[in-house]
Amino acid sequence: MEKEKIAEQARAMLQRFYGYREFRPGQLDIITEVVRGRDATVLMPTGGGKSLCYQLPAIMIEGFAVVVSPLIALMHDQVTALMANGIPACTLNSMMSPEEERQVVEHLFEGHIKLLYISPERLIKDIEWWSTRPDLKISMFAIDEAHCISQWGHDFRPEYTRLNIIKEHYPDTPVVALTATADKLTREDIIKQLRLRDPYVHIASFDRPNISLRVMPTPNKVKRMAIITQLIQKYPTDSGIVYTLSRKGAEEMDEELQERGFRSVCYHAGLSAERRQQAQKAFIQGDAQVVCATVAFGMGIDKSNIRWIVHANMPGNMESYYQEVGRAGRDGLKAEAIMFYNFGDVIRRKEFADQSPEPQRSVILDKLDRMKDYCEATVCRRRVLLSYFNEKMEHDCQNCDVCINPPARIDGTILAQKAMSAILRTNSNIGTYMCIDILRGSARADIAKAGYHLIKTYGAGRDLSQSEWTYYMMQMLQLGLIDIDYDRGKKLSVTPYGMEVLRGTARVEMSQYQRTQKPPMPIATEGGKTRKRTSSTPSPQQTRAQQTKKLFETLKEVRKAEAAKIGIPPYMIFNDASLQDMAQRQPITMEDFAQVLGVGEKKLPRFGPIFVTAIRKFKGL
Ligand code: ADP
Ligand code: ZN
Repeated sequence: MEKEKIAEQARAMLQRFYGYREFRPGQLDIITEVVRGRDATVLMPTGGGKSLCYQLPAIMIEGFAVVVSPLIALMHDQVTALMANGIPACTLNSMMSPEEERQVVEHLFEGHIKLLYISPERLIKDIEWWSTRPDLKISMFAIDEAHCISQWGHDFRPEYTRLNIIKEHYPDTPVVALTATADKLTREDIIKQLRLRDPYVHIASFDRPNISLRVMPTPNKVKRMAIITQLIQKYPTDSGIVYTLSRKGAEEMDEELQERGFRSVCYHAGLSAERRQQAQKAFIQGDAQVVCATVAFGMGIDKSNIRWIVHANMPGNMESYYQEVGRAGRDGLKAEAIMFYNFGDVIRRKEFADQSPEPQRSVILDKLDRMKDYCEATVCRRRVLLSYFNEKMEHDCQNCDVCINPPARIDGTILAQKAMSAILRTNSNIGTYMCIDILRGSARADIAKAGYHLIKTYGAGRDLSQSEWTYYMMQMLQLGLIDIDYDRGKKLSVTPYGMEVLRGTARVEMSQYQRTQKPPMPIATEGGKTRKRTSSTPSPQQTRAQQTKKLFETLKEVRKAEAAKIGIPPYMIFNDASLQDMAQRQPITMEDFAQVLGVGEKKLPRFGPIFVTAIRKFKGL
């Protein structure tokens, strides 16, 4: 079939099954190539729309597509979402009874299933007998999370390496490999190991402009909680994730939030499978507003209305950071990412790294350095992030803390001298926190006991807060004025360069701590400026905007009630982008409702009446 024809057909299917009018960048080209029988590798950020790249070809080609995914727990969700759009799909996995399996196989033979989700182990087990059955028509293979195949990636799964068996049995069937994280090495590995032939390679931009980025020195606990609770309250009907370094940290955060009356759950690898599943379910269904979790949480989580991510500790590398941040705002609407970082995080990460043998250790440490560079960035963070993924960005983003609030530079010579003098006067026998306490003249018992209250710099730094000192000490480390001695219980020492500054032969410039941390990023107002209103009557535009917002909230309630009634997660009915479009269009006929983003042929009759009725009622009709 020629390209134009395929494109036309694909567009029709997109509207019919998904209710979307346009493809996202890259999607159509991938689909066209695969429908024409070509292998493909798709590199797209989370939320970029990878699923469509194999689901549409699966609909368009005769037979069923085999989708390999490492996450059995999520296969069921994917099947439910497809069925809700009227696309017949099923799964074969280890959690099914023999009777259920028999039924699925029967359906496959009947020939109306379009997608089969399966684990790699299962595919390896079954593929040989499939290939002996010509009446079992396989249209294509899709390998999700394809980076798992590579030892160079960060999520190697040995069973993935056996997927080379696919081309052995099906040399002429297209194979599409999809991933959100793959550097060049991993990409080449995917192609080689899956034995793809001249694949169509698509590498999407890694930019996620709708997510605002912010990094700040870890504030004290009260402020920390204030920032998190503000986020929860700002998005009362949506959800967010707090990532912590340790399991204990996740549990404590969860308790704190529950005590404050928020619906929070906890998730980490130390919990039983059952509790983890419960937490995940509560989060996906929208019963929990927050999940406090370690990195164990999130892979494959397909929830479009995560509005914010807080990193309570600095992640270990940019890949993890990007991946975790990328879980927010998958519907393309505004989302926020905030990271807290401090000395302690860096130290703990270094300790982790030290437990690894060489050469891994050096790799981990290098990655950690790049992560620190990002935190310390005094230029647009998005530029730093994208340049890490080898992507060039020509402009500042205006949606990160550095762009919005460029840090002032200060002469840090004197404050650095005070800190280094304190270190030397204790014979380099103190760690960071003790050093700060000495500078601030703390009454800590162990300070007096060691006689540190007698040294000249005791209390010399009272003018700066604990947070400020932490921020500047971090920079002193970054700038190479001081060093941390891991073999001596993390005690600080002054470097030769530090000695120069101390003697006054060199000066240092630092970025200034922002004393009044401005919590939320300013939201751009229409036309760039807020105009003063002379009368108290709102303008027509304003009433309309308020009405839209109110209707949006109402529609969310309708969606939630309906989801509870039929027992599927709310976002599978419509995602937030759809509800937003609905609130804007305010359709009061089924005909108008069909125009809403995400309304396809299956969802129109199924959900149209409920939402149209709700909108009519809202408008007093
Ligand atoms: P990924 O697998 O790349 O993380 P998904 O395939 O889950 O991303 O897509 C993320 C979201 O974007 C889903 O809600 C999906 O329905 C939506 N989406 C995908 N393609 C389009 C499109 N062309 N128009 C509108 N929404 C889309
Ligand atoms: Zn920026």
